[in-house]
Order: sequence, then C-alpha cells, then structure tokens
Amino acid sequence: MTITVRFAPSPTGYIHIGNTRTALFNWLFALKHNGQLILRFDDTDVERSKAEYAEATAADIDWLGIKPVRVEYQSKRFAFYDAAVAALKAAGVLYPCYETPDELERKRKLRLARRLPPVYGRDALKLTAEDRAKLEAEGHRPHWRFLLPNFKDDPFAPARTIVHWDDIVRGEETVDLASLSDPVLVREDGTYLYTLTSVVDDIDMGITHIIRGDDHVTNSGVQISIFEALGAKAPALGHHNLLTTVSGEGLSKRTGALSVGSLRRDGYEPMAVVSLAVLTGTSENVVAMPDMASLAAVFDPKATSKSSSKFDPAELDTLNRTLIHAMPFDVAAERLREMGIDGDKAEAFWLAVRGNLTRVADAALWWTVIQDGPVSDEPLAAEDHDFVAAAFDVLPQEPWNRETWKQWTEAVKTQSGRKGKPLFMPLRIALTGLASGPELADLLPLLGREGTLARRP
Ligand code: GLU
Repeated sequence: MTITVRFAPSPTGYIHIGNTRTALFNWLFALKHNGQLILRFDDTDVERSKAEYAEATAADIDWLGIKPVRVEYQSKRFAFYDAAVAALKAAGVLYPCYETPDELERKRKLRLARRLPPVYGRDALKLTAEDRAKLEAEGHRPHWRFLLPNFKDDPFAPARTIVHWDDIVRGEETVDLASLSDPVLVREDGTYLYTLTSVVDDIDMGITHIIRGDDHVTNSGVQISIFEALGAKAPALGHHNLLTTVSGEGLSKRTGALSVGSLRRDGYEPMAVVSLAVLTGTSENVVAMPDMASLAAVFDPKATSKSSSKFDPAELDTLNRTLIHAMPFDVAAERLREMGIDGDKAEAFWLAVRGNLTRVADAALWWTVIQDGPVSDEPLAAEDHDFVAAAFDVLPQEPWNRETWKQWTEAVKTQSGRKGKPLFMPLRIALTGLASGPELADLLPLLGREGTLARRP
C-alpha cells in the first residue's frame, strides 16, 4: 500500500509559515516513506473560500518544493458526503436537533450549575416523531449530530470511553469521548461540516497517515469514531505543535502576516522558509538545509516539541545568507538574467559577490558597481586622494586574474610605504564607492584594466 498523506487547507486566505509547517511535515513524511501527497482544498465554506486563495496556495506549495500527485476540491464532492450522511442516518448514529444557539447556551449554563460536564445533553434524542413533525411544521430546520459511541446502553448516561492512538508526532495519545459533545456534521442549511467531509475524503482517497496541527487532537478522537461508523479504520494520526509569532500570538491566514507569498516576494529562498518552518520547535538545530532530500534525511516527527514554538522571521535572513553563499551559478543564473546580469562575466561575477548577499536581488547593486562605476555613498577622504591617484600609476598590465590585486597592492605598498587598512580602504572606496563588499581580488578581473583606470580619482 502506498503511503498517502494530504495537505488540506481551507482556501480562506494566503497560507503562512504555520500552514507551511503542516504541508511540509506531510511532504517530508511522504518523501521518507516513498509515498505521495494529495492537495485537498477544504472549501465547503463557500462564503469564506475563494478560488484566488486556492490558486495562490497551490503556487506557494509548488514554490516550496511540495509536489502533490493530485489536487481535489471538497466543493466538487458533495455526492460523497450525501452518501455518507445517508449511511450514518441509516445506522442510527446521526440524529436531528432543533436547538437554537441561545437555547444551547442556556442548557450549557444549566449543566454547569448542576456540576455536569458542559456538553450537549442529547435532549433531541428524546424527541418523538410527532415532536419533530411539529417543529418542522413551525418552520424549524434540523441540524444533525453524530452520536458518539461513549455509552453502553443508555445514551443519556455517557461513560468514560478512551480512544487511543499512537501519534506519529506525540506518541501515545488519548481522548475521552465522554468529555465531548456529539459533533454537528450537517448544518441547518444542509451544508456539511469539515469533521464529516474530511473523514469521507480520507477514506475515499486512501489516506494512510494524517499529520496536522495539535489543535486537531480532540477532533481526532471524534473522527476516529466517524471512520469506524462509516466502516473504515482510521488512518495513522500525527499532531505537530503550532508556531506562534515572537510575541506568542497564533498565526492567522486572515491577517496575511508572514504569508508564503510575501516571503517569496521579499526574495527569500524556498529552502530558507522550508528549513525554518520545519526545524523550529524540534530538537534539530535550525540550519539552512540545501534541499528537500537532505531535510527529509534529518526529519523525525518524534523530535518535535509538544508545546507551541516561537518563530522568528529574523532568522530567515541568516538562513538565506547561508544558502546564497553556497549557491552554484546555474541555480542563480535565470534570476540573474532577469535582473539584466548576463553575458560572459556573469558567472565570475556571481562567484565573486554571492558571499556578500542576503538575497539574490542584492546582486543588482554589485552589478551596477562593476558595470557603471562606484556607487558613491562613501566619499574618498581628501588626504587619500593623491595616494589613490598615484596608485593607479602602478596598475599591472593585463592579462588579469585573481593574483592581480596582490601584485598591485604590493607595488602600491612599495611606492607609498602604506600598508594594511590605510592602503586597502581608500582603494576599495575608489573602486566601489563602498567601505565593504566582496573581495577586491575577485572584483578586479571583472573591472579589467580599462574599467579600473576609469575609476582613477
Ligand atoms: N481544513 C482543515 C484545517 O485547515 C484541515 C485539518 C486536517 O488536516 O484534517 O485545519
């Protein structure tokens, strides 16, 4: 049996680094086990779901390096849910309820006052066919609850019913069904809730492993029962910890904060985002992994912390730098070309400057320096003017290579008696207009003798 996982976002906003963690835990799990991933849009909430969010999500996960074998939309699968609802009704485990939210709240308070757990007391199960007909004649429409298997003979006397699973991430996990309300699976308007549709799809799509955020642990207890009521065995389940902002707030799709799209537009490398999203809150160090396969090799769901973890976007810069400093030319070439960095100098240029960049886009500045001349943020000090002008007199003849800088500065040293920083810094400023940057030994051959002489003050 092929290991099959799914990433099942609701397309109600742009996915952020926290959603990315879920997608990646699944993808890495699939990679490790030679499995496959299905991208499933949980878009039954037609008011909040938008096609543009689904499209952006598909593009985002592709950019991250996640390659689904297929893409599904719950909004196109109502026939499956209709059939499941019919089966549950026929089995007598889906029952109609007519309480309004206000009534439910009153009942909840009453139970609390009587020191009973504040769960739904199943009053609707007591309704006779006549009662129901009367309510419906008065215009009430039912919502439908799933009868949790948490009692022996009497549904009004729930007893401790522990559902166990060996969580892929958290180890032994349990939920007591007696502490939960029967979940609503069908709303008054006939629309289905995620609790049901997810199970129906997981069965139909042959999902073998579900990995999702730990905000779904209780849901899992409920859904295991629904799997069984539909005659299936629940897949293996895993729940990873959630990421929060540095100040401890949860991430929300609605605010668009730290969306994958914004990180991409800011020029971060996918593997910087991927490494941070996966390794934060695990026992592994947060380091930049060069590719998905190397990350999969160290990925161990069990090494994930059980409490929520703070995610610091500032770390992205460090990770991005590491990736760029080691990035081969052929990986950067296309993007450099788009920035106008092309031609026979492009490769040597990239190798010269990459060690000084945080983002690929930062290369543009150095290309300007090489092609157009110093960007003169940093003026040459007046007392260095004559020293630099004279230095250009001893510029070596071509051909130039990486040794030229050394030959030149040796000659300048002999000529002027200067050494160390008072020798190098004025030359750097004259050549680039900046006080720091890539090795001049690498830049000089890119400038060539003519280009260098043009910078004589
Ligand atoms: N649409 C659900 C969510 O985004 C999916 C949860 C699950 O993976 O089952 O939370």
